[in-house]
Amino acid sequence: MLERLDEQSPDALLALIKMHAADPRSDKIDLGVGVYRTDEGGTPVFEAIKRAEQQLVDEQSSKSYLGPEGDMGFVNALMPYIFGEDATMGGRIAGMQTPGGTGAVRLAAALAQKAGMTKLHMGTPSWPNHAQILGDISLEMAPFDHANPDGTANVEAVLAAIRGAGSNDGILLHGCCHNPTGVDYSDEDWAAIGDAIAETGIFPIIDTAYHGLGHGLEEDVAGLRSVLAKVPEAFIAYSCDKNFGMYRDRVGAFYILANGQETLDTAFSNANALARASWSMPPDHGAAAVRLILRDSDLTKVWKDELEQMRNRMRQVRDRLAEAGTQGSVDMVPLGIQNGLFSVLPVSKEQVAQLREDHGIYMAGSGRINIAGLTMGNIDKFIGAIAEVTG
Ligand code: PMP
Repeated sequence: MLERLDEQSPDALLALIKMHAADPRSDKIDLGVGVYRTDEGGTPVFEAIKRAEQQLVDEQSSKSYLGPEGDMGFVNALMPYIFGEDATMGGRIAGMQTPGGTGAVRLAAALAQKAGMTKLHMGTPSWPNHAQILGDISLEMAPFDHANPDGTANVEAVLAAIRGAGSNDGILLHGCCHNPTGVDYSDEDWAAIGDAIAETGIFPIIDTAYHGLGHGLEEDVAGLRSVLAKVPEAFIAYSCDKNFGMYRDRVGAFYILANGQETLDTAFSNANALARASWSMPPDHGAAAVRLILRDSDLTKVWKDELEQMRNRMRQVRDRLAEAGTQGSVDMVPLGIQNGLFSVLPVSKEQVAQLREDHGIYMAGSGRINIAGLTMGNIDKFIGAIAEVTG
């Protein structure tokens, strides 16, 4: 039976990791893999996490099953950070823990489909797994251009997608720090998007995987909150894997906004059933550590300081790139106003290959770079290489 399967191409980024590891050059630069790195090039465990994990080891008394919804203390502790002071929006929001943001996106798509969604509009390029998840559950994707060639958001395209949508359509939006472009909507853009969603009734799914890595914990969810304030229903997929550095521990949450207790309860029961049928229960450890951090003001402060350091370092890298202006054929100025871990450089596949071969600079074939792969020690080499290869 298995011979009927078609070979699947391996993840391009994983192939890039292998090539980078095999490169003997000591000044090679890895801008491929999507994890934060310090100015020393490492991805250390957060101090706040270390302390919470120690507490877990010392105090956790059981590892007995929790249930498909996971650690509800974790789910609830996150809510004020995402939704604000009125963390349930008057009892209209319910959530559950998921295996990473990926689990949350998958659950959002599957539940929307179960509720009758037939098509999901999505700005492209996007995180490649968005399309893979939709393909896997056979939910039609309708792409529109997320960004303009000058590196700003294409607001007309998203508004046109919303206004032209059918009655069973949804729209997937990145809450902040768009992956891969780094191009986020302004407050005015979000206001127009929220109005258009409210007018047309298209179902919004907001994927927030980089909360706190753009401008700050409050700033990064202002757009999301402005949309939620206007709409009757929405799904929110959330990841703690970047903002708590938990990547492999798979920490995420899925939230439902509904317009009435009964609808909310019914939707939640369906999410629960879908979770039960897919992963049964989410992994506990990382979410338990995040819960301990968010319930302890000292640990919360340690975490917020660490997050701020990450944010400031990425801003410093972006500022330095923007200062470099135009290098070769690449205008670096837009990178200064973009947010988060990623941006896309307007380089060809051949130029990407040349950067790799001639300069030991590794990036995705799309030109996506991990901003945190640049340090004050290697950024000048990077800028020089861009000038040489694209000049
Ligand atoms: N959404 C987006 C836009 C992402 O970039 C990512 C992670 N790369 C995720 C969701 C999923 O994150 P996680 O690792 O928590 O599954």
